[in-house]
Amino acid sequence: MDDPEYAQARRDLVADIRRRLDVSDTVLSAIEAVPRHAFVPDDRRAHAYEDRPLPIGHDQTISAPHMVAIMTDLLDLERGDRVFEVGTGCGYHAAVLAGVVGPRNVFTAEYVPELAEAARDRLDRLGYDVTVYAGDAREAFREEPPFAAASVTCAPDDGVPESIVDRVQTGGRVVAPVGTDRGGQRLVRLTVRDDGIEPEDHGGVRFVPMR
Ligand code: SAH
Repeated sequence: MDDPEYAQARRDLVADIRRRLDVSDTVLSAIEAVPRHAFVPDDRRAHAYEDRPLPIGHDQTISAPHMVAIMTDLLDLERGDRVFEVGTGCGYHAAVLAGVVGPRNVFTAEYVPELAEAARDRLDRLGYDVTVYAGDAREAFREEPPFAAASVTCAPDDGVPESIVDRVQTGGRVVAPVGTDRGGQRLVRLTVRDDGIEPEDHGGVRFVPMR
């Protein structure tokens, strides 16, 4: 599946992210291990290791690698942590998360059934043991115990829905873009405390809207 040219392009990309951003080695190694070219449409493969989002069909995108790096770093994950991802898309970020927390610990929900099915097949074929739910993330994985973290990769326009924050255990984190295309979106990290939610702002971003 991998080939030396892609592997070199990926090392260069990771070296570039390392120079520009303060992201942990654990996260960078996970990014270096995931074949992003296998997650983009065939006619985009030549661009797979450029640090930008790319269209994946159904009006959706694969996130830029540096954004996956920043978000994964903010989640502050350890191996063995269980993570809830909102918005599987092509499954790329889910694969990076699996690289950090290990097999069977990533639970990801995708609204568009065709994307969910394609991501499930792709992750399976590439050997990532990730659980993919097809449907609205607000309804997903209700039977699962609380997660250590949630990674939201589509933007709710008015704050992260309670039904998603509620899935995260005390001490856990939610990282999400919040806001609209017009008004602007901010990347936020919410830490769930006994006595409420502690928000932090991590700058302006641009994501597809949450449905
Ligand atoms: N995580 C992806 C990026 C996906 S883009 C990556 O690895 O690159 C965001 C995705 O969120 C889109 O595929 C969109 O269909 C999905 N989405 C939007 N609203 C959703 C919802 N309510 N529940 C689940 N998925 C949703």
